[in-house]
Amino acid sequence: MENGAAPTAKPVIVAIDGPSGTGKSSTSKAVAAQLGLSYLDTGAQYRAITWWMVNNGIDLTDPTAVAAVAGKAEIVSGTDPAAPTITVDGVDVAAAIRTQEVTSKVSAVSAVPEVRTRITELQRSLAAGAERGIVVEGRDIGTTVLPDADLKIFLTASPEARAARRSGELKGADLHATREALIRRDAADSSRKTSPLAKADDAVEVDTTELTLAQVVECVVTLVEEKRTGK
Ligand code: C5P
Repeated sequence: MENGAAPTAKPVIVAIDGPSGTGKSSTSKAVAAQLGLSYLDTGAQYRAITWWMVNNGIDLTDPTAVAAVAGKAEIVSGTDPAAPTITVDGVDVAAAIRTQEVTSKVSAVSAVPEVRTRITELQRSLAAGAERGIVVEGRDIGTTVLPDADLKIFLTASPEARAARRSGELKGADLHATREALIRRDAADSSRKTSPLAKADDAVEVDTTELTLAQVVECVVTLVEEKRTGK
């Protein structure tokens, strides 16, 4: 199959947005790997800055306190889809950012405009530096971070499917509690003032409820190829 490996190919920017548990990460990584593109998990960046704030005893209920230290942590993302990495001030936080504590606090931190400005800058600079192009997953990539992306995908799934996927990832987590926590986080992410979770007008919506990961990946790869060949 013709893929992104052609040295003269123009870099392609793919934005994949949607709520938690819709398969964004698995899809984005697989699409990037298949097309030879870089991969960026922007949720990991918001989790990393949240981890830093928790570690430094910042009062996360006080947006002014959060804003005042928004520029302090040095967050570095490795964008190889086969082995994505994330460090804060040189410390590998890949596991630490997935704890329940960080998950329950990240929406409060990501709602602070100064935090978003800082993280958005990092995201744009990584996208601009990706030689072959990049798949960027998040909540506001198509609407705010990379509004000129070549392809925008908005993934959705029923709350039941999303909770079941998350519980599977969290091994044995209570399905009802997971569903409630997901709905709470999505509500917070969708209702914040600064760049909320939203589908861009020109995004292609894909409902993954009844689809396997392989089917979603194939669908997105086909859409990228169509963009590249100008179909
Ligand atoms: O994707 P993930 O669930 O790891 O994202 C964690 C949190 O990071 C989200 O709940 C949201 O608050 C924030 N986020 C965001 N904008 C993005 C990506 C994630 O606000 N582009």
